[in-house]
Amino acid sequence: MRLLLVQPAWSDTHGSFSAMAKRHACVPPLGIGYLASLARKAGHEVMILDAEAERLTDKQAAEIILARKPEVVGLSATTPIYHKACNIARHLKKAAPQIITIIGGPHISVLGEEAFFPCFDLAVRGEAEMIFTALLQALEEGGRGLDAIPGVMLRRGQKVLDQGWGPKVPDLDTLPFPAWDLYDMSAYLTHVRGKGLVPYATMNFTRGCPFKCVFCAASVLEGKKLRGRSPRNVVAEISYIKEKYNISHICFNDSTLTLRPDRIKEFCSLLMAANLQVTWEGWTRANLVDEELLSIMKNAGFVRVSFGIETGSPRILKLIRKEVSHEDIRRVYRLTGKLGIEATCSAMMGHPGETEADVWETVRFIRSIPEIEYSPLSIAVPYPGTELYRLAKRGEHGLKLLSEDYSQYLRYAGGVMQVNGMSPKYLRKLQKKALLWMHLTPGKIMGTIRRFGFRATIRAVLGKS
Ligand code: SF4
Repeated sequence: MRLLLVQPAWSDTHGSFSAMAKRHACVPPLGIGYLASLARKAGHEVMILDAEAERLTDKQAAEIILARKPEVVGLSATTPIYHKACNIARHLKKAAPQIITIIGGPHISVLGEEAFFPCFDLAVRGEAEMIFTALLQALEEGGRGLDAIPGVMLRRGQKVLDQGWGPKVPDLDTLPFPAWDLYDMSAYLTHVRGKGLVPYATMNFTRGCPFKCVFCAASVLEGKKLRGRSPRNVVAEISYIKEKYNISHICFNDSTLTLRPDRIKEFCSLLMAANLQVTWEGWTRANLVDEELLSIMKNAGFVRVSFGIETGSPRILKLIRKEVSHEDIRRVYRLTGKLGIEATCSAMMGHPGETEADVWETVRFIRSIPEIEYSPLSIAVPYPGTELYRLAKRGEHGLKLLSEDYSQYLRYAGGVMQVNGMSPKYLRKLQKKALLWMHLTPGKIMGTIRRFGFRATIRAVLGKS
């Protein structure tokens, strides 16, 4: 079949922070890359369209899709851009109703039938890799057998047949590498200290997270049990893309990169033995690294890390079940400073139970750590599937859910919860003030400009999208 896999654009949902988001995080969408690879192996003709990388509006994306004349279009979308996947699918259905549209990704996986709109013929809930070729084969045979594939949602007359979540990939080493040749790798650039803007790739070492942070759906979407690729498999992929596309930097997307330190150490020694001269980065938790591990990683090219801080208030830290102490956080940043690893973090406001005083406590906490070169401060969003969503729906800890318009479930330019009397509008204003004050130190000003560029930083400060 002639298949086109689509990632809708997302950075324009960040309002005045869009320019920073574009500069910081135009990432090759891995999910559709894996599916493309599997479909091609099964003999299908496959194309990819990354509307974010090509800076396309939904209408422009739909026009390009129509011009490529696919038989099947697969779209992947998270909650805040689900409406954009719907826009694209509606354009397609209007202009070429014979195109079969399939939706996948976190939003449809969690909400199921509630998000299964008529613009989609089929949906896939959960990980799609194990069932995707069976799905395409069933479509080739006129739809026969679709109702026996777990994870596939379809209509039978007026009724929706929801077959639950598809199986998770038990052994990630069995997946082929993403179809890197279908991406325009020159579109994905990131800033690496000492190298400037370089083409880079994203990868996952693992899937799954055993922790229970209330704002996060990782354990629901990927499962609580950690599933990992072997270090050998990851190094083989790095070696492949380095040779083929001269990619010299890898960003690991794992929710917690160092959950298995033994695996990371083995990876480091294989990477060094392969002498690939690549740099890499990732996110983890402050209580899951020590000096020995960070030193080994640094020697193997690890140049940037982000630790989840989330809040500077010990009271809120408990409420959001982060299970990391502020002492651990201060300790790891001292280590990154000592080792010369660029350090950032994730931080949020609008947590359950939070007051304005707590927000300023977060600002002061991050300001007080000089090793943090720049920091986001997103507004907590009650994504479906998270405990935060349930708390907001039940009105607990001062939260009030104001809207189920998911296009407003945004971390920077939207907001759908009232938090201890603070409205979304008030929170957005507070966010801008807090971000500004947080970064008004010489180190953080320089760090921000280095990472995001002068122009994008100024646009954010001036509130221009
Ligand atoms: S925030 Fe990180 S550690 Fe917490 S549940 Fe999500 S992925 Fe796991």
